[in-house]
Amino acid sequence: MADKMKAVVLHKIDDLRIEEVPAPGAPGPDEVKVRTCNVGVCGSDVHYYKRGRIGDFVVKEPMILGHETGGEVIEVGSNVKNLKVGDKVAMEPGIPCWKCTFCKEGRYNLCQDIFFWATPPDHGSLAEYLVHPADFCFKLPEGVGTDEAAMIEPLAVGVHACNVAGVRPGSTVAVTGAGPIGLLAMQVALAYGATTAIATDVSPSRLALAEKLGAKLTINPAKEDVVKRVLAATEGEGVDMVLECSGAAQAISQSPYLVKPGGTIVWIGMTHPPEVEIDQVRLIINEIRTQGTFRYANAYPIAINLVAAGKVNLQPLITARYPFEKAVEAIDMCSTGKAEQIKVMIDF
Ligand SMILES: [Zn+2]
Ligand SMILES: [Zn+2]
Repeated sequence: MADKMKAVVLHKIDDLRIEEVPAPGAPGPDEVKVRTCNVGVCGSDVHYYKRGRIGDFVVKEPMILGHETGGEVIEVGSNVKNLKVGDKVAMEPGIPCWKCTFCKEGRYNLCQDIFFWATPPDHGSLAEYLVHPADFCFKLPEGVGTDEAAMIEPLAVGVHACNVAGVRPGSTVAVTGAGPIGLLAMQVALAYGATTAIATDVSPSRLALAEKLGAKLTINPAKEDVVKRVLAATEGEGVDMVLECSGAAQAISQSPYLVKPGGTIVWIGMTHPPEVEIDQVRLIINEIRTQGTFRYANAYPIAINLVAAGKVNLQPLITARYPFEKAVEAIDMCSTGKAEQIKVMIDF
């Protein structure tokens, strides 16, 4: 095999190139080598491209973008038993240390020593070949494609959020922000048995998709009073859970007014700047539980099962496709016409 491959490399802000980079060598004993088939473009890829940083993570050296990945196994390490050549896989992008307390407790998303695709300085997956731990490559069941495998990553965020929120049969849930994460989190909540899902977004096309995917009520905060409408839809009580996926300051500040006493708010969308006004007294007197969630842990198998069982529909979220040769164009397009797109998929 050639020792060079093509990859999408971010050099600095606004300087993104497809270029030749060294190809990974043979997989280690517990690793597999994968031919990349699909990578989804994530908001974080666009953010690094346009701003060069997310919080404390700053692009200082050229970095390969991409972390939402589906591929095909082309070589397996000597210890690998769960996969064979030809298997199609969804690839979990974070490799934790497995030694710290968080890892040992199963909360490996909190590992401070994690390697994570396309989080500087770690290279991402927008490259022709990848070598990855076999236990973080999940074999796709019959009927699940490698494009869907790429979307298991954002879906895992939704699974983790619903697990943390404690969504159960009969729950009423408001999802604020109907982008990819919101639409996926909402579908997971419905799959978990939520009876009412309410979606909010400023984009009419996103609200239309939310409705198609099962939202009982959609609200446009640019035109309507979100609090009033949520209360009207829940007999004046509010919802059991708010899944805040927008990262919009207004939606964050409003969340305590959407949730019923004793309810839960889960924060998923990151806001900028990070300080937001919140009615802390209301959180106290209503005993509202608030909880941040970050990425996911042990969520890939659940996410894959939900897709295989037909409980989560991923295809309607793929709103544009680009061949790998046009990956720079694809990411460019996401940075401009973003609101019109849900998920842009790159096909190798
Ligand atoms: Zn992502
Ligand atoms: Zn660790």
